[in-house]
Amino acid sequence: MKTLIKNGIILTTENEFKSDVLIIDEKIAAIGENLPADGVDRVIDAEGKYVMPGGIDQHVHYSFVYKGSRVRGFETTNAAAVGGTTTVIEFVNQEKDRGLIESIEDYKEKDVDGIAMVDYAFHIVMTDPRPEVIKEIPKLAEAGYPTLKLFLAYKGQFFHADDEAVINALTAGKEAGITIMVHAENADMVDYLTKKLIAEGKTGTYYHAVSRPPIVEAEATRRVIYLAEMVNAPIYIVHVTCKEALEEIKAAYQKGQSVYGETCAHYLLFDESVLDLPNFEGAKYVCSPALRTKDHQEPLWEAINKGWLNAVSSDHCGFDFEYQKHLGFGEGKSFADVPNGAPSVQNRLNALWTYGVCTGKLSKQRFVDVMSTSPAKVNGLTEKGHIAVGYDADIVVFDPDYRGVMGVESCLEGVDYSIYEGMEQKGRPETVLLRGQVIVENGQYVGKQGQGKLIKGKPFGSAYDKFKG
Ligand SMILES: [Zn+2]
Repeated sequence: MKTLIKNGIILTTENEFKSDVLIIDEKIAAIGENLPADGVDRVIDAEGKYVMPGGIDQHVHYSFVYKGSRVRGFETTNAAAVGGTTTVIEFVNQEKDRGLIESIEDYKEKDVDGIAMVDYAFHIVMTDPRPEVIKEIPKLAEAGYPTLKLFLAYKGQFFHADDEAVINALTAGKEAGITIMVHAENADMVDYLTKKLIAEGKTGTYYHAVSRPPIVEAEATRRVIYLAEMVNAPIYIVHVTCKEALEEIKAAYQKGQSVYGETCAHYLLFDESVLDLPNFEGAKYVCSPALRTKDHQEPLWEAINKGWLNAVSSDHCGFDFEYQKHLGFGEGKSFADVPNGAPSVQNRLNALWTYGVCTGKLSKQRFVDVMSTSPAKVNGLTEKGHIAVGYDADIVVFDPDYRGVMGVESCLEGVDYSIYEGMEQKGRPETVLLRGQVIVENGQYVGKQGQGKLIKGKPFGSAYDKFKG
C-alpha cells in the first residue's frame, strides 16, 4: 500500500518546509519535492496544510478505578485519533499481590487488545514495593515497559509511595535505563490541610486548590530531586504546575542533574477560579495537582520554551460529571470526595495550537516537540514522533484555517462534559494516519477498533541524556 501526501508544509522540531511524503505500508519511505504519483494507491492533497508527526500523549488514564467505578477505557480512543494523537501511554497500577509486568500484561489482554484505536504503550505504577517487586524493576527494560511511576500524593491510598520506595526504584532502575516518574505532592501536607478545611466547614470545590497549594508540590519536587541526586539517578516529574516547583527543576537542570518534567494543557490554559463555578460545576476542574492562580502560567510557557519541561500531556481521566456529583455533592460531602480527573485527550493539540501557537506563546517547532517528538524520546519510542524516512507513518495533516468551538457535542471521549466547553478552536487535524492507514478523514473518525497496537519502549529514554552512570 502506497500513499502520497502532496504539497503540505512539513513541521519538525527544527524545520518547516514544503515537501511531499511517500508512505509505503506502515513507514515513511521518502520525503522530497514533486515525488511521482506512479503506482501510488492514494494521494492526499495537503496544499495549505501542515504535515506533522502524530501526537504522543504520554499521560493518560484509561484504567483508573475510584470507589468501584472505572473511567472510560480504550473503547474511547477514537477521541485521541480525531484530536491528532496517534499514541497514548497509559498508567497501569500494579495489582495487589501481582508483579509489575504481569499487571500490565493482564490489563492489556483484558481491556486493550482488539479495542485500541490508536497505538499505545504503558507505564507501570508501582503500588507494592516489596523486595521481590524492586528486583523486578530492571526486567521492565527487556519487557518493553521502560518507565515506572510512583505517587507521592494520596495518603492512605494503596498506590501512595513513600521516600523509601522512590529510593529503591531509582537505584534498581538506573543500570537498566528505567525512567522513574513521580507525582510530586506531599501527601501529609495535603492530608493536614484537607482535614483542617473540612473541620472549618470549607467543603466546596474551590477548597480543592486551597488543600494542595504550590508549596505542597514544591516540597515534594525538591525532595525527589534530592533523592535522585543522592543515588545519582535521572528523575522525571509528571504534571508540573507551579513556579515554585519549576524553580527546583530549573536549578537542578542547570546544575547538570538529569531532572525533567512535563506539564498538562489545562495548567497552561485555566486558573483556579474555575473551581469556584456555581452549581458544583467547579468539580469538572478537580484534578491533582490543582489548578493555580494565573501568575503561574507565564513561567510554565517559559519552561516549555526553554526545555525544562519537555512535554505537554493531557492527564486524560474520564469520569462523568454526574459521578463526581454523586460522590462529592450534598450533606456531609466535600471536595475531597470528588473523583479527580480532566477528560481532555481529544483537544490537547487543538488547545495548544489555538492558545499557544496562535497567540505567539509557542513556536510551531516547540509545539511539535512537546506534543510528539519529546514524549517519544522520553519513553523510548524510537520509531515515533518525527517526520523522517524510516519512522512510523503516524501523520497529522493539520488545517490551520479551520474554525470551530470545542465542547462535549463534538467530543468522542464518552464523558458527559468537556473541560474546554465553549472555547474557540483554531485549526484541526483534518486527516490522521496511523502507521500508514487513514483513521481520520475530514475531521471524522474512519478507523476501526483494534487497529492500535502495543509499541514497546526502549530503555535509556531521554531523561538519561545527562546521566553519567
Ligand atoms: Zn495522572
